[in-house]
Amino acid sequence: MRAVIKFKNVNKYFGNHHVLKDINLEIREGEVVVVIGPSGSGKSTMLRCINQLEKISSGELIVDGFRLDDPKVNINLLRQEIGMVFQHFNLYPHKTVLENITLAPIKVKKMDPREAEKIARYYLQKVGIAEKADAYPSQLSGGQQQRVAIARGLAMKPKIMLFDEPTSALDPEMVNEVLDVMKSLAREGMTMVVVTHEMGFAREVADRVIFMDEGRIIEEGTPEHFFKEPKEERTRLFLSKIL
Ligand code: ADP
Ligand code: MG
Repeated sequence: MRAVIKFKNVNKYFGNHHVLKDINLEIREGEVVVVIGPSGSGKSTMLRCINQLEKISSGELIVDGFRLDDPKVNINLLRQEIGMVFQHFNLYPHKTVLENITLAPIKVKKMDPREAEKIARYYLQKVGIAEKADAYPSQLSGGQQQRVAIARGLAMKPKIMLFDEPTSALDPEMVNEVLDVMKSLAREGMTMVVVTHEMGFAREVADRVIFMDEGRIIEEGTPEHFFKEPKEERTRLFLSKIL
């Protein structure tokens, strides 16, 4: 299958700080890639380059046919193809759940408000909280808020979903309700790049796991590879801390 995300010798600097070093990575349509690695290794930066929240410093990055090293790239069109879910849910506190979800489809996609509401209710149903449509974020648990954030991403009908440690701010008892939604999305064929240390999730649905350290991809392979026979010493050391 064709690559929907392609990094070729990508480097990223913040000032003099070299945070992504010669990243080469191709992600195919429908693939689920889990990214692991120590704090500060460049995982979030790599994800953020995919939807142009950060610009690459050199190399080539092609996402769904958009060349991100082209200064004329249409960032708004690109971002409509990519949903992103963060560690902190970033919902608008003064808007209801339904309004949070319909905002971008109405504003960005110029969708008819009734149509947007229909779609929002569909995705709320899908993430299991249809009854919370009129609630405000503060009235929801962390797990419910994160599921709203996922529904909000899906309502834009993206081709790619990016997740940056989506469960690491949650109380332990809420982690699974969010992972379950992500697992069903993965099984439905969504292209997903997920930064997470939830290796149970990786084992169940990841096609590939990428281990990053100090701005480099150190090792990649199937989840089984990482559980059974990681090659690099740095990978073993890291896994011994999280497993
Ligand atoms: P990770 O997600 O793996 O913890 P990040 O991608 O957030 O790592 O960060 C990689 C490195 O880049 C870190 O050293 C971090 O301090 C630095 N960094 C991240 N964002 C910025 C920024 N906007 N400005 C300057 N340095 C940054
Ligand atoms: Mg991060």
